Amino acid sequence: MKKHNFSAGPAILPATVLAEAAEAVKEFGQEGLSILEMSHRSKPITAVVDEARDLVRELLELEDDFEVLFLTGGASSQFFMVPMNLLGEGETAAYIDTGTWATKAIKEAKNFGEVVVVGSSADKDYTYIPKACQIPAHCKYLHITTNNTVRGSQFHHLPERPEGCLLVADMSSDIFSRPIDANQYDLIYAGAQKNLGPAGVTLVIVRKSILGNIQRQIPTMLDYQTHVKKGSMFNTPPVYPIYVSMLTLRWIQGQGGLKAMQRRNKEKADLLYQAVEAHPNFRPTVAKADRSIMNACFVADTAAHEAAFLAYCEANGISGLKGHRSVGGFRASMYNAMDLASVQHLVDLLNNFKP
Ligand code: PMP
Repeated sequence: MKKHNFSAGPAILPATVLAEAAEAVKEFGQEGLSILEMSHRSKPITAVVDEARDLVRELLELEDDFEVLFLTGGASSQFFMVPMNLLGEGETAAYIDTGTWATKAIKEAKNFGEVVVVGSSADKDYTYIPKACQIPAHCKYLHITTNNTVRGSQFHHLPERPEGCLLVADMSSDIFSRPIDANQYDLIYAGAQKNLGPAGVTLVIVRKSILGNIQRQIPTMLDYQTHVKKGSMFNTPPVYPIYVSMLTLRWIQGQGGLKAMQRRNKEKADLLYQAVEAHPNFRPTVAKADRSIMNACFVADTAAHEAAFLAYCEANGISGLKGHRSVGGFRASMYNAMDLASVQHLVDLLNNFKP
């Protein structure tokens, strides 16, 4: 029996995508080969990469100046590639600290230039999104984490920034979950393993004109320009994760695109948050206006109730509900591929739980 997968990532993927991806491992199309055995430079595989790139462009309505890259090293490598490529020595970047991943991005950026933390929700255990951040005029870029996977908070409005200050976003856990004005950003990155595909590929969307403007010597593999010039084929790209991502992008488009994803995600999140709020033994942890529609974090009133509810859920087909090891409690991740029925099942369990 397939479980209801509330894992934060690697995470649920559409059933049709998994079925097609499984077939391709046996034989890709009529090629007489498994997709795992094929050269990345063969026609069928370059067609996959091209289609994935085109779907990203279409879904996000990207302007021509953007390049779509499929890299390796996880979103974690973007924590240093971003400042390595964009922040010259002595230049300053602004970061908003919204917890775990943002904090890690800040740590890495400090190796390459000056970092000013223009907003932080550390004072309240990262349970809200800092507002009205003042960004000094000389900052090269502002970095935000649009959805905070561990804490369950999400930016629902973009911070204002001075003219000329670039906008960089880690969208690992909410890319393709809602329409965005992608052209307001200069660089977007996302590990694939939530809304996009399996672990192993990192999507980077970069405005080409922001590259090549600093003096630093950048190792070839870590220079975005290398991958821009070679269309993500400088070295062997992670073909299979790109293929599964392409199938997921097709699925998103077939469902009606990002507006349809947002409707679906909002409906699920509203259903769950309302049930948690209504229950006498549970409460959501994040300020109402800043709650994530992807990862809903909540806690029980006692450790005994927490353990009992987790056990009750696990006995009833729910997987991945335990909060991140650093924060505890519960985290229900409800990425694009999750059906409303799975959230309804969790809500039914919540309503039946009377300790
Ligand atoms: N940023 C965010 C928002 C994440 O959720 C994660 C992983 N869960 C990362 C970065 C790190 O990604 P990776 O494991 O691909 O390096």
